[in-house]
Amino acid sequence: MTRRKFSVCSPRRPLLIVVAAPSGAGKSTLCRRLLADEPRMVYSVSCTTRPPRGNEQDGRDYHFLSPAEFRRRLRRGCFLEHAMVHGHHYGTLRAPVLRALRQGRDVLMDIDVQGAAQVRRAVRHGRNALLRAALVDIFIAPPSMRELRRRLECRHEDAPEEIRRRLRNARIEMSRRREFRHVIVNDDLETAYRELRAILDAARGQPG
Ligand code: 5GP
Repeated sequence: MTRRKFSVCSPRRPLLIVVAAPSGAGKSTLCRRLLADEPRMVYSVSCTTRPPRGNEQDGRDYHFLSPAEFRRRLRRGCFLEHAMVHGHHYGTLRAPVLRALRQGRDVLMDIDVQGAAQVRRAVRHGRNALLRAALVDIFIAPPSMRELRRRLECRHEDAPEEIRRRLRNARIEMSRRREFRHVIVNDDLETAYRELRAILDAARGQPG
């Protein structure tokens, strides 16, 4: 009799899903949809020193911290990764991510390319067994820089100078897309979402 290598009952390794993209590429929409379809998935709420926008809520969208409080947490080693983006500090708290993984739950992190590189290092070289979770790093790219500019302008959210800043940053982020194992070009939202689901299904099918 051949022995099964993996028991059908063994719990699968939780996924640590890192999604990065230039702003305007459709990352937030794709992440929101994924979270709605996967109620057990945990969204990693980041800390930031930028002020809240629109109807953003503290603790739900971000933990909005003062620069002093952010520095204090940084000194205490609370962050799994952190980076300066668009002139503000952003960071992922280590404890909630580890807690969710320990519970066997997938974690979704919406972070920038600098943070993604730090998570990759932590997962590959870290001694924490939990962090050897199946890392799925995905870059969402716009079909072109021209289309990205069009989307940012059509949102009517940002002043022209802010749009120029986001486009400068987008060029830097695009130049680092090959660091990611998966790249999804978001030309059409439905197709991009199907690709995202297919990447996760494939990762779940891999042995732990
Ligand atoms: P926004 O301020 O527009 O919500 O986010 C600006 C950028 O910061 C986005 O690319 C977002 O993914 C990134 N970001 C959000 N949270 C984190 C975080 O915890 N760490 C890092 N490195 N980037 C983050």
